[in-house]
Amino acid sequence: MEKIAVLGSTGSIGASGLRVISRFPDRFKVCGLSTNTNIELLENQVKKFRPQAVCIGSLIGAKPKLGNIKVYEGADGLCRMLKDLKIDTALVGIAGSSALLPVLTALDKVKKIALANKEALVMAGGIIMDKAAKNRVTIVPVDSEHSAIFQCIGGRESQELKKIFLTGSGGPFLNVKKSGFKNITPEQAVNHPKWKMGKKISVDSATMMNKGLEVIEARWLFNMDINNIHILIHPEAVIHSMVEFRDGAILAQLGACDMRIPIQYGLTYPERLDSGIKSPSFSSIKNLSFYEPDFEKFPCMGLAYEAGRKAGTYPCVLNASNETAVKYFIEGGIKFTDIPKVIEKVIGMHKAAKNPGLGDILEADKWARIKTKEMLRCCR
Ligand code: MG
Repeated sequence: MEKIAVLGSTGSIGASGLRVISRFPDRFKVCGLSTNTNIELLENQVKKFRPQAVCIGSLIGAKPKLGNIKVYEGADGLCRMLKDLKIDTALVGIAGSSALLPVLTALDKVKKIALANKEALVMAGGIIMDKAAKNRVTIVPVDSEHSAIFQCIGGRESQELKKIFLTGSGGPFLNVKKSGFKNITPEQAVNHPKWKMGKKISVDSATMMNKGLEVIEARWLFNMDINNIHILIHPEAVIHSMVEFRDGAILAQLGACDMRIPIQYGLTYPERLDSGIKSPSFSSIKNLSFYEPDFEKFPCMGLAYEAGRKAGTYPCVLNASNETAVKYFIEGGIKFTDIPKVIEKVIGMHKAAKNPGLGDILEADKWARIKTKEMLRCCR
């Protein structure tokens, strides 16, 4: 039995991950689960999967009914749980930067990480990939585009690659005029046309920052020059990304827009098992279309390329500023169009550390959050 911890088990990725795992009861044993706030769903998951331990974001005022299992609390607790458990695989479905320390901890414990989180790689991709190589941990990307790229590369060396085409559906506002952007509400922004996802990533898809973060994510996962990673808008979202090799051959990965496919591949890699998911009906899709991304309408993509090229602590600052601004936007505190504006200002003020260590990265993250909050208070 493969012993597995599902981090962020009550989120969109974690819950889908447990659906995948429950198809293979003879193969996987769930040993640990974690949630930030959804204790009720966690209680149900504990009843069904009977892990040895769980971690909850905060136990203040909570009396979880979890029977006789070990309960950890908070961010430190999550890392302690990972250290204490005996596990082979971690599925990381935690949203945002809070995945960074658990990922680094898991890299000392597991043989494989099925990684759905992109922010950890954006912040500290160099540190994560170095540690994975040193500890011989396989990182299988679960982000749908990166799972596609990983499958297309199929273990070839990175010097055989020429280009990555990172496809994106364009989000909910692809065909909305820029003049209408200032009136976009959080409810409209979280309503993605193709993928069912958590709130933060849905807003990132609406600003297209998600694609920008994915460029940096791909840069680290596939050891690729950022200038050879091209965003391509593909509204049908049938192709999940493509890879061009040196000889001009291009491979694409296609399939239904269902996260259970990349999650399952992440968990069963290198094997492929039945998923029970219906394939797309090509005759009813009829056309696949492609467009260049509009950097003027969606400035977050350009900001991400810029931060990725400058490297050092810039991507971390981009990410922290974005997380802070998106939180304010979801809470109704700022306009949709304020998101890229504030990120650009904060990046402009940053003095980066070259070849940053983890300490520099955590400091830059903290600095960017404080700066972003200061600037947002001014514009309210
Ligand atoms: Mg994605």
